[in-house]
Amino acid sequence: MTKRVPYKFVTKDALTYLTFNKWEQDEKMIHGFSTRYGGVSQGDLATLNLGFNRGDEEENVVENYRRISKALGVPFKSLVLSKQVHETQIARVNKEDCGNGIQTPNKWESMDGLYTNEKGVTLVTHYADCVPLFFYAPDYGMIGMAHAGWRGTVEEIGKKMVEIWFNKENIPLEAIQVVIGPSIGPCHFEVDADVADVFNAKFPNAAFIRYEHEKNKYRIDLWECNKQSLLGAGILEENITITGICTCCYDQIFFSHRKTGGKRGTLGAFMCLK
Ligand SMILES: [Zn+2]
Repeated sequence: MTKRVPYKFVTKDALTYLTFNKWEQDEKMIHGFSTRYGGVSQGDLATLNLGFNRGDEEENVVENYRRISKALGVPFKSLVLSKQVHETQIARVNKEDCGNGIQTPNKWESMDGLYTNEKGVTLVTHYADCVPLFFYAPDYGMIGMAHAGWRGTVEEIGKKMVEIWFNKENIPLEAIQVVIGPSIGPCHFEVDADVADVFNAKFPNAAFIRYEHEKNKYRIDLWECNKQSLLGAGILEENITITGICTCCYDQIFFSHRKTGGKRGTLGAFMCLK
C-alpha cells in the first residue's frame, strides 16, 4: 500500500510545481510551490530560478516568472513579490501593488509576509530551505503567505499572521487553514548551541529540539515549531497540514541553500484568489 501524501506534483509544458491536496479542487483559489524544473536558468540556478539576487540574468528570471505564471494560470502582471529579510513585517496588499519587485522596484525594505482578499492579486514569496507558510480562509476569501526561516519561526511570523487576520480582519480562528510547505526538515536542520538556545527559550522542553551527543549539535524540527506556534495562536489542529518534504533531501527537485552551500536558485510560492 502506498502512503498517502498531502501534495501532488503537477507538470505543464515541462514545468513542474507542487500543489496541496486539500486546496487542489478549490475553484476560488490558485496556489503552487515551484520546483527546479521548467525554467531557462543555467548552472547552479538551473533551471527555474525565481530570485533576482542570485547572480542570474534578469531576463532569465523574468522569463521564469512568465513560465510559472502561465503554468499556474495567473496573469504575469498580477504578481506581487515580497521583500524577505528574516523579519516579521506583514502587509495587506491589493491591485495597486501588482508588479511590485518585478515590473517596478520593490517598494519594501522588509516584508516577509503578504495577504490579500482581492481577486487577481498573486502573492509571491521565496524559499531555499526556509519554511513557507500558506494561509487560507475559504469562507472569508482571504489568502496569505509568510516566510519563516529559523528567525521567523522563533519570532512566530505565522502566529502574527493569524493575529492580524483575527484582530484586524475579523476572521474566526477556526476558519483559517494553514499549510506548512517544503523546507529543510528535521533530518537536515542541524544547528549549534547558540541557535538551539534561542529555540529552547521559545519552545521549552520541546521534543522536536534534540541534542545529538555524538556530534555536539542540535536537530530542530521547524515544521513542528511552526505547528506549535500556530496551535498556540488558536488554529485548529485539523486545519494544519505539514507537507513533510525536506528540500535538502530532495535537492534534485528543489533548491537547497544548505545542501549547496548557497550556490542555488530560489523557489517561489504562489497564491491568488480568482
Ligand atoms: Zn532532509
